[in-house]
Amino acid sequence: MTLLALNPDVSAFLNAVQGLRIGAEQVQARQTITVLNPSTEERLAQVACGEADHIDAAVDAARLALSGPWGTMSSHDRGVLIWRLADAIEARKDIFGQLDALDNGKPFTKARDVDAVYSARHFRYFAGWASKIEGRTIPVSDPGRFNYTRVEPVGVCGLITPWNYPTLMVAWKLAPALAAGNTIVLKPAEQTPLSALYLADLALEIGFPPGVLNVVPGLGAGAGAALAGHKGVDKIGFTGSTETGRRIVAASTGNLKKVSLELGGKAANIIFPDADIETAIEGSFWALFGNNGQSCTAGARLFVHSSIREQVVAGLVKRAKALSVGPGMDAQQHDLGPIISQQQMDKVLSYVGQGQADGAQCVAGGERIRNAGYFVAPTVLDGVTDTMSVAREEIFGPVMAVLSFDDEAEVLQRANNTEFGLAAGLWTNDLSRAHRMAARLQAGTIWVNTWGDTDAASPFGGMKQSGYGREMGQEAIALYSQTKSVWLGLRESDLI
Ligand code: NAD
Repeated sequence: MTLLALNPDVSAFLNAVQGLRIGAEQVQARQTITVLNPSTEERLAQVACGEADHIDAAVDAARLALSGPWGTMSSHDRGVLIWRLADAIEARKDIFGQLDALDNGKPFTKARDVDAVYSARHFRYFAGWASKIEGRTIPVSDPGRFNYTRVEPVGVCGLITPWNYPTLMVAWKLAPALAAGNTIVLKPAEQTPLSALYLADLALEIGFPPGVLNVVPGLGAGAGAALAGHKGVDKIGFTGSTETGRRIVAASTGNLKKVSLELGGKAANIIFPDADIETAIEGSFWALFGNNGQSCTAGARLFVHSSIREQVVAGLVKRAKALSVGPGMDAQQHDLGPIISQQQMDKVLSYVGQGQADGAQCVAGGERIRNAGYFVAPTVLDGVTDTMSVAREEIFGPVMAVLSFDDEAEVLQRANNTEFGLAAGLWTNDLSRAHRMAARLQAGTIWVNTWGDTDAASPFGGMKQSGYGREMGQEAIALYSQTKSVWLGLRESDLI
């Protein structure tokens, strides 16, 4: 196997013990995190492991920037800086691509051309918003009063992100939070902290005032919990598992900070017999296997009409067997990379075993592959029923559960019979059915004859236990802002 040559900046980055980014400083900590390369199981980098006192220092730095240079900067200049950050990410997309390919394991070309490029676009979209956040003049009933609103930043925002899209998940939160005028303490996932640290350096380099973006890697129970519970933090923006989301809400009650949550999912993807079947197979395949199944929107429950089940399963199996799986930095780029960790791989394989024990048939994959790295063969489980754990719980790996159905009302009820509500989709050529289902499926995003599209301009988020708040689009600006109502007495005679 030949590996892609490392960018010299990436080599230098990996060779130094990376400190926490607090204000303008790199701060070393008492402990370090050993970041592993999941493609090789080898040590990749050593990163300072932040704890509660580091979170205190980062919150202080963020507060200082909020009342100082960032808080007083014009919205125009703020937008220009965010735009510049977008340009800098795009110009260094090779570096972001390599860092994510190394600590997450995903194919370098995907990390560069999708994750890094879409992150840059995200910053660009929100750069435009910075100068367009405005209040309203309200026509109140008393003509002796003038009332208007101001839209202000929430304050110091704690952002906590997962490992599945290390750069992109940071961009989704950071771009609107900055555009709305907040300052940030970011706690990236402990498995994938590299690109977030690099981004902090880039922000300083292009002119962001120190303290606007502080990055404190650490463990969830350490730095993460300290951030969620911190009295000086005004808002938490969190993406991760539903279980952790519950802990964050509990920790937030001390100062009743605002919380927005993007949590887990178990998306239903439905193929009706009137769909263009080959397109539906191809789209449904990538709906699950894109990013190796490690997406919150993965189309993990595939409901196929019983009249076309054999054809669809055969198509899925053919594609699964043709996929190439390998290290993210392999010169011969693969379709899929490894699972993020041994623990996650064991969890994925145990779900496959449980599914078979419950009566599902494993018609593709089902086992660990390659000699080193946490690789699992793309797996298709056929004959899955609603009560099996593989149909109910989020696996977060390359395991597709195929279920069959007979009519629309039945599949709608079964698709909605889940605690999650992040995404759902269907494949049909019946226009009325498409809109009928889109209205009735209980999920924050519905895809019809497509899957996985997101856009900086379009709101994204969950219903039910998949979270609350909407990231992206103008909703994200609202998420990171608060409205103040200002009253003014206009009558000379009336002093109250
Ligand atoms: P996770 O919940 O274990 O960790 C996410 C982040 O939370 C990490 O930074 C972690 O260190 C931190 N954390 C853990 N415990 C904490 C605590 N007690 N207090 C504060 N922070 C804590 O999730 P993960 O395994 O990294 O990511 C996978 C999960 O993320 C999946 O469930 C997936 O569905 C979800 N996800 C959701 C979206 C979405 O937009 N809805 C997107 C990507 C991933």
